[in-house]
Amino acid sequence: MLIAGNWKMFKGPREAEAFVSAFQPPSGVDVVVCPPYASLAAAVAAGLSVYAQNVHWEREGAFTGEVSAEMLLELGVRGAIVGHSERRQHFGETDETAARRAARALEAGLAVIACVGETEDERERGETEDVLARQVSVLPNGERIVVAYEPVWAIGTGKTATPDVAAEAHAFVKTLLDRPVLYGGSVKPENAEDLLAQPDVDGALVGGASLDVDSFSAICRTAASIRS
Ligand code: PEP
Repeated sequence: MLIAGNWKMFKGPREAEAFVSAFQPPSGVDVVVCPPYASLAAAVAAGLSVYAQNVHWEREGAFTGEVSAEMLLELGVRGAIVGHSERRQHFGETDETAARRAARALEAGLAVIACVGETEDERERGETEDVLARQVSVLPNGERIVVAYEPVWAIGTGKTATPDVAAEAHAFVKTLLDRPVLYGGSVKPENAEDLLAQPDVDGALVGGASLDVDSFSAICRTAASIRS
């Protein structure tokens, strides 16, 4: 079971250091935090397993604003998120660019959390499986990649997929890529148990609730208690 905290564009180096110093990961669950680039070094130095929120597919070059897998590894970062829906919505990320990022990161030795998920309109039109198939089919396979099923309508909205909806989507994703699947979308201490107890839910990618030490700790403890 993996619980990953996506801090998005929150917490500079001082706040990152304070969070990691105050946070005690429980045993029986893998925990990572994903700070913004500026805070990666502070979080690594404070002693937690750290992933970046993105990674580029080239080693170096004229790619203003991007960061390579080699640079992340040099900092002590162990993995990266790719294809987050906020990257797709606001920064032109596509299935193909997300897949290229994932492939390069795996090749360089980083772990990858590859995000997939349908929008509300796509779900209402009955296109959820088509969208997931399109997004997942281009991803590389490998021992160090996990998928995060993040229905776009549930991210940062307070709307959470029901455990049944999540279980169905996770089972479908696993027919396409036989790797662990995390659930993401308004996971909180109050709903973590119901979601994480589903058989095909192998962990969570947590946004808002990962910014607070107490709520992130509560979710991690719930995960530890379910699989132990
Ligand atoms: C996310 O950022 O991946 C996420 C799931 O956010 P939230 O938990 O805030 O919905």
